[in-house]
Amino acid sequence: PYAMLNSTVTRNLQAPANDAKENPVMDPDRVIGFSLCARKANVSTTVARKLSMESSVPQTEPRGFLGNENVLEVGKLEAVYQKNEASESRILVFVRLRPMFRKEREAGLRCCVKIVNRKDVYLTEFANENDYLRLKRIRGRHFAFDASFSDSTSQQEVYSTTTADLVEAVLQGRNGSVFCYGATGAGKTYTMLGTTENPGVMVLAIKDLFTKVRQRSCDGNHTVRLSYLEVYNETVRDLLSPGRPLVLREDKQGIIAAGLTQYRAYSTDEVIALLQKGNQNRTTEPTRANETSSRSHAILQVVVEYRVKDASMNVVNRVGKLSLIDLAGSERALATDQRTLRSLEGANINRSLLALSSCINALVEGKKHIPYRNSKLTQLLKDSLGGVCNTVMIANISPGNLSFGETQNTLHWADRAKEIRTKACEAN
Ligand code: ADP
Ligand code: MG
Repeated sequence: PYAMLNSTVTRNLQAPANDAKENPVMDPDRVIGFSLCARKANVSTTVARKLSMESSVPQTEPRGFLGNENVLEVGKLEAVYQKNEASESRILVFVRLRPMFRKEREAGLRCCVKIVNRKDVYLTEFANENDYLRLKRIRGRHFAFDASFSDSTSQQEVYSTTTADLVEAVLQGRNGSVFCYGATGAGKTYTMLGTTENPGVMVLAIKDLFTKVRQRSCDGNHTVRLSYLEVYNETVRDLLSPGRPLVLREDKQGIIAAGLTQYRAYSTDEVIALLQKGNQNRTTEPTRANETSSRSHAILQVVVEYRVKDASMNVVNRVGKLSLIDLAGSERALATDQRTLRSLEGANINRSLLALSSCINALVEGKKHIPYRNSKLTQLLKDSLGGVCNTVMIANISPGNLSFGETQNTLHWADRAKEIRTKACEAN
């Protein structure tokens, strides 16, 4: 009944001690011992005390408390704890509302979304509907997420809340992924890519990553490699080096796109330039440019490799992968039950997005077989969804009452995604 847990269930690294129920490392009753590895971690005071008293494992000597935050640098902060359902970690799900455009307001659109307390999202049907207690009782009108961002939330805040911890996890040698999804025009690309003045999650994550890896690499030697690809009509294309479609192959590390460019990057500016170049290579049909961009999925993958010294001053190699995904517009594909999904399958809609829905449903229902093989997107994301990784979903929604149905669908889907558990540790 015991399991090992790397101390980093990312988000919980910075979690306050009262998050104990969700985080085994924070919960002194469940921690029964420690073993060796190099890591910094925030732990609750009681756990810290227990850790420093733990002398049966010789190399577990804490190097000392850094400041007063219970940040320990220890031989190995792999807590051995009593296993229960919390050995899995939940996907984190966020919602972001985009501002209403002047044009929309001038056209008489009304805002039908209210965000309260940075968490709750209410859908309103009428202009002066603000009886939240009543809305809470109506199905499909109230949702709560790990955080919900109103239309005035800055790019930096969205990054810090949703992705900064993932970047930290990647630097610890883990995998992490962030998905943006929602209907076309809801703000996915703005959130992921942003603009020159207001760069989005992709750019802010890379900036953060470069800063941190430079500070930590013990010999100043690190590599940041990135690839940028698109899935459009079940065809995989290399956005950094356009050419023939890529073939997916399975190898020891999982599914790979054969021949995909791995670009070694040295600075954030260089990455911004690469992203811009990549976006120009995204599939566009001259006659239906809008339609097309809304049907392609873009995946940026960043692999960081660097050396760090562990507690016994041994040099160890750390490799982590961050995947940032700008999904195709979810309109018509956000079915939450199998029957609707099946009826949609014949229709000409985005197969990858449907397959993603099916995988999420299967994961939520705890099925043994997850149908990753049904599409290119799900094959590529197999290790980023439901596997041993940290996953973040950002659902983007539009404010206008004309989008009420789409918005409700997106929120419903996001609500369901909250149920997905990823394996945060290996069971013993
Ligand atoms: P999507 O990728 O979901 O189709 P976009 O990201 O292209 O949607 O957003 C549609 C439009 O709304 C773009 O012009 C974008 O700049 C703008 N927009 C989206 N979100 C925001 C926001 N949070 N703040 C300001 N403008 C936004
Ligand atoms: Mg877009």
